[in-house]
Amino acid sequence: MARERLYLFDTTLRDGAQTNGVDFTLNDKLAIAKMLDDLGVDYVEGGYPGANPTDTQLFAEARKLDATFTAFGMTRRPGRSTSNDPGLAALLDAKADAICFVAKSWDYHVRVALETTEEENLASIRDSVRAAIGKGREVLLDCEHFFDGYKANPRYALACAKAAYDQGARWVVLCDTNGGALPHEVEAIVGEVVKVIPGDHVGIHAHNDTEQAVANSFAAVRAGARQIQGTLNGLGERCGNANLVSIIPTLKLKPEFTDKFEIGISDDKLKSLAHASHRLDEMLNRAPNRHAPYVGASAFATKAGIHASAIMKDPATYEHVVPETVGNKRRVLVSDQAGKSNVLAELDRNGLIAELNGIGISIEKDDPRILRLLEDVKAREANGYSYENAQTSFEVLARRSLGMVPNYFDVVQFDVNVEQRYNALGEKVTVAMAVVKVKIGNETYISAAEGKGPVNALDVALRKDIAKFAPYIEKLKLTDYRVRILNAGTEAVTRVLIECEDETGERLSTIGVSENIIDASVQALMDSIVYKLVKSNAPA
Ligand SMILES: [Zn+2]
Repeated sequence: MARERLYLFDTTLRDGAQTNGVDFTLNDKLAIAKMLDDLGVDYVEGGYPGANPTDTQLFAEARKLDATFTAFGMTRRPGRSTSNDPGLAALLDAKADAICFVAKSWDYHVRVALETTEEENLASIRDSVRAAIGKGREVLLDCEHFFDGYKANPRYALACAKAAYDQGARWVVLCDTNGGALPHEVEAIVGEVVKVIPGDHVGIHAHNDTEQAVANSFAAVRAGARQIQGTLNGLGERCGNANLVSIIPTLKLKPEFTDKFEIGISDDKLKSLAHASHRLDEMLNRAPNRHAPYVGASAFATKAGIHASAIMKDPATYEHVVPETVGNKRRVLVSDQAGKSNVLAELDRNGLIAELNGIGISIEKDDPRILRLLEDVKAREANGYSYENAQTSFEVLARRSLGMVPNYFDVVQFDVNVEQRYNALGEKVTVAMAVVKVKIGNETYISAAEGKGPVNALDVALRKDIAKFAPYIEKLKLTDYRVRILNAGTEAVTRVLIECEDETGERLSTIGVSENIIDASVQALMDSIVYKLVKSNAPA
């Protein structure tokens, strides 16, 4: 049986841009549009031309995408003609393949918010759709508050949708604007709509205010809708929009959907999904959600000992899909609950066992080195280390105990000074300066550096000392730095978790624990540098 085509409409750049704290530049928007286009999304909604300078600029030039590049805006204002509405004119002039109009479909909003009559609102929908089609654009109509409107007055809500469809709109999109609808309501209401408008002209736009935007999108598809609107990582105002990063793999990997539907995203592109999700976080300067379904660092992570040994025998025992299909990977966490199986599984995953075999060393579960490593991990975790969120530090520790880290350099001594003073302009400034002494072989190096803070100053000074390794580590940059104070044993200690990213996009997570925050930071920093040197096969 031929599968039906299901269309994906991304609104990260329009609705997603409404997120608290998100402010896309023109370059951000172009980069994200390109990323969505590469992925194979059908529609990319760029923004609202005329509403702000960035969006106006975005639509000032034709953006060559395979996806249908879409401009968003309002239908003509009540009481005006289409030729006498500057907002509509800007929208019609936008260099876009499609125009997505938003219109009220709840009679209460028409009266109270728009202060006009039901008939004038319908006329505005008809006129705007006709004007955009006259300009050669594909047309979509977002029916705002459709589900609440339908509950209050089904006849009028349907009349709004039907008005656009009858004038030739390609899609009528049912919006759960305040995000309060529940899946069984969405399924029932969409089921009624598709009796009047064919389902392959009906879309769903769900918000996540009851954490069911993804479920609501699927409920609409089950009832007959054939376009899903959403955003990357569920970005969007309040609790966000339907998360395409969860929707896409579900459509691609779950038989209920794959057997019936085809989407524009190939199996191959699906493997870049985790990367796309993390790249957006990177652009927003946010740490990726470890617990994000499919793409989070913890999505395929297993902790307890018995699960880990089962996973080594057959991964399907504990995984609902194969992690690599979405560009993620399996992780077996090393923690104080760990058994030897966890440690071995983790060494295997990191390729350490293969590497050892390659140099003629075989390692078994009862190898004394494995036992020693396990005891070392447990002792460290008792003192505040936590390797489940610091896989890179675990690998450095494991390599050390297996004799797989060359002696690149030793930090012999460091000193850091933080000074607060008034500068020549009479402004209060805080300056950090560090001096680091390092031994490489028989040579000693001492460098000093200023930095934005004590850790940054130490990093800069250390990198000066070990300049001979610069080509291997210059692209390694800090992306996240977190500090927690905890009570381990009898002392309060500081735990620092650092995330770095290298030029290949690999994320390094390292940890340091000490009574002193600077010392903890340096430990974590050193692990990331040493790991990168090992991975780059840097000569000691
Ligand atoms: Zn919305």
